[in-house]
Amino acid sequence: MNNENNSTIHEFDFSLICEYFSSIDRQGPGSKEATLKALSFIEGLDARSRIADLGCGTGGQTVTLAQNSPASITALDLFPLFIDKLNERASRLNLTDRISGITGSMDDLPFSEEEFNVIWSEGAIYNIGFRKGLQYWYKFLKKNGYIAVTEACWLTDSRPQEIEDFWMDAYPEIDTIPSKTAQLQEVGYESVVTFTLPEKCWTENFYVPQIEAQKKFLSRHDGDAVAEELVKYMRHEDELYSRYKQYYGYVFFIGKKIS
Ligand code: SAH
Repeated sequence: MNNENNSTIHEFDFSLICEYFSSIDRQGPGSKEATLKALSFIEGLDARSRIADLGCGTGGQTVTLAQNSPASITALDLFPLFIDKLNERASRLNLTDRISGITGSMDDLPFSEEEFNVIWSEGAIYNIGFRKGLQYWYKFLKKNGYIAVTEACWLTDSRPQEIEDFWMDAYPEIDTIPSKTAQLQEVGYESVVTFTLPEKCWTENFYVPQIEAQKKFLSRHDGDAVAEELVKYMRHEDELYSRYKQYYGYVFFIGKKIS
């Protein structure tokens, strides 16, 4: 990492990160098409089915799930500001009978064992780690229930040092798709499918909307060095993606609890 970009994401205040991300529709790379593609592998949902959407953010994928499946969704995020936005969104779209947004932590879930048909989590399981999340969430799924998560993965067996260093700081658990699939199976799920999110999920849907959001954020925090540093970090992340996108990406993993 060079001296001009030597902050790490772990150093920023949560409330600042929250404010930054609450002004955009997605808090991580993804798309409606990718959510729908993943949903197409989930069989047997009906009006009694329950989905938990963990680390839902402001609920981009929650709304897609509600509009394209008969199930009810409990969407959980650590930050009340995101949950308020999600609940406003659900009420604007007349989806309050199908979506319930709650504040909580994905490593201490307020749910009963075997409560859910599906556990969904886009761009969020990294907060507790892929293996730990898959292990801990297992008991909340009914038998034959599904897990559907996206996770940052290496797309090649080797890569340039700069991008290796960046990820070793941001999320050292990043690994290749075969290694992650093996972890999912070791935890006890059957692997249903994996697919890599297209580039547009990062560019058009994630980094591009941040350009305007960054301008507004900086004008709200005029002269605030920490806010400037956060924007610098996010711009650096964007630039790294455009330089090294062939080496990493987000991958959808869908697994089934078979016993
Ligand atoms: N699923 C959304 C948000 C992804 S960003 C999307 O794809 O747009 C990751 C989300 O995880 C953020 O909303 C963050 O607030 C949330 N998060 C971080 N730690 C968490 C925890 N321990 N429990 C629940 N949510 C958490």
